[in-house]
Amino acid sequence: MFVVGKDTPGMEQVRRLRKHGHRASHTAELSFRGCRIPAENLLGDEDKLEHKLEKARRGEGKPAALGTFEQTRPMVAAMALGVARASFEYACDHARRREAFGGPIIDNQGVSFPLADLAADIDAARLLCWRASWMAANGVPFRMGEGSMSKLKASEVAVRAAEQAVQTCGGWGYVDDLPVEKWYRDAKLYTIFEGTSEIQRLVIGRTLGDPEATATPLHHHLPGDHGGLRRKFGHGSLARARAGETFLRLAKKAPDSVLRLGGRLAAPGA
Ligand SMILES: Cc1cc2nc3c(=O)[nH]c(=O)nc-3n(C[C@H](O)[C@H](O)[C@H](O)COP(=O)(O)OP(=O)(O)OC[C@H]3O[C@@H](n4cnc5c(N)ncnc54)[C@H](O)[C@@H]3O)c2cc1C
Repeated sequence: MFVVGKDTPGMEQVRRLRKHGHRASHTAELSFRGCRIPAENLLGDEDKLEHKLEKARRGEGKPAALGTFEQTRPMVAAMALGVARASFEYACDHARRREAFGGPIIDNQGVSFPLADLAADIDAARLLCWRASWMAANGVPFRMGEGSMSKLKASEVAVRAAEQAVQTCGGWGYVDDLPVEKWYRDAKLYTIFEGTSEIQRLVIGRTLGDPEATATPLHHHLPGDHGGLRRKFGHGSLARARAGETFLRLAKKAPDSVLRLGGRLAAPGA
């Protein structure tokens, strides 16, 4: 993959696309005609590219973009979970406060049961997301499409949660005074980009043909607690999270070379 700078001769923005949701992000149709890209715009170093090309020529491995997507899917799952959780919390809050027919509407099982299902489904999706993120951060290979599993479940629960939030808020849910109207439009994208739900099922489904992958228990045995140092400063530790926050605060002032070094130190597996 290459980075193509916005002033590259031959690259043109054809038109800006108007979207159903996520309108604060710019999405455009681009055309590329005879663009020449300098070698330093290659993402990842040349040795890695050669290694991957060599594997591809031998018919081994998978395209770089597919491998990258599997690793980044837990991140998209986390974003979808944010929409799901916001919608769910808003709906619960509204259902506790809104009174109709002599009491808060949450007292009706017709209102609380769909929310109860969502409470369980959002938690299940969150656990899948945590597992996949843990695996990605610790270099544990996704043998059963665990990244895809997290994205599939989180995105689909986000769509359902946002729809239920609109329903729970009744007529106001359909009016853009309330944020649920926006979340309803935003949620749908998560089942489409970074691989559609069908593609997530395809990735998971393909692993089912491999007896070794299906033999892996779904609950991975996590490698112990490690030594004291790893527990204090390893991935997921409070110290590392605080260091990351400080790094982000200082990043704006730091020269590129320092940023690159920091990125290498914080990379998974470092
Ligand atoms: C707002 C937005 C932002 C985006 N951002 C990015 C980005 O940053 N980077 C990027 O790379 N892409 C991005 N995309 C593109 C997005 O990833 C694709 O639109 C998505 O992967 C679907 O591909 P497609 O549009 O070509 O649909 P198609 O491939 O035409 O698919 C159409 C339908 O057919 C189904 N389908 C296709 N093949 C199969 C199959 N083999 N089995 C079962 N069903 C199948 C699909 O699931 C889908 O439902 C973005 C899209 C949008 C809308």
